[in-house]
Amino acid sequence: MRLVDSHVHLDDEKFDADRDAVIERALAAGVDRKMAIGTGNGPADLDVAVRMADRHTFIYATIGVHPHDASKATPETWTRMRALAQNPKVLAVGEIGLDYHYDFSPRDVQREVFEQQLSLAAEFGKPIVIHTREAWDDTLSILRAHWSGGGIMHCFTGDETQARQALDLGFHLSFGGVLTFPKADSVRQAARIAPEDRLLIETDCPYLAPVPHRGKRNEPAFVVETGRRLAEVRGVSLEAIAETTTVNFERLLFAGRDR
Ligand SMILES: [Zn+2]
Ligand SMILES: [Zn+2]
Repeated sequence: MRLVDSHVHLDDEKFDADRDAVIERALAAGVDRKMAIGTGNGPADLDVAVRMADRHTFIYATIGVHPHDASKATPETWTRMRALAQNPKVLAVGEIGLDYHYDFSPRDVQREVFEQQLSLAAEFGKPIVIHTREAWDDTLSILRAHWSGGGIMHCFTGDETQARQALDLGFHLSFGGVLTFPKADSVRQAARIAPEDRLLIETDCPYLAPVPHRGKRNEPAFVVETGRRLAEVRGVSLEAIAETTTVNFERLLFAGRDR
């Protein structure tokens, strides 16, 4: 069995003490490839995932400015992003989007920085990884107006209606630990109706650990639990979900390149 964790923050300080052991446990659990998200603590950290990808053949990278950090972006951020995009292990632009829950950056700045990065992703010819929280309608309208490529709705926690809207826009739905939470029936319903070729799984570690690790630090090895729950919901085996989500990841992110 081979699994891909499509969204990790292994640069987080919560892994400083045992990062190598965490990576070893992931490999032992069959989770070989991981996509490291390059948002770090803001635009100054734009290369955080690239540096990790440089150290490990099985780790890939994204580059992007998180909506939380939108107000810290400067023209120099986009210059650096253009340079980093040349690295062959950079697979996508993300995580980008809107977060109206925390509002760490003013909403108009979030929207502007989101649109700016959509145009960069189009320039690079790369898919995007979307973070959206309490901002669904604005996220969709910006995507409809400014984006025609593919991408990932990361840590998808919407319902069936929202799933259909994202799918209609050509997006993949990446399910995380929330899928395993007892109250997440509407998320499981979304996972049930999604076409097989649009499914992905992720941990978003160190956040949102799946049951039975809920409340603890999350790590890539735990993506197996989310995969198991997704398999149950769809009435297939864990091995089948592992293969499906791996093939989907390769089709979307590698798009004909060497893996
Ligand atoms: Zn996120
Ligand atoms: Zn994330």
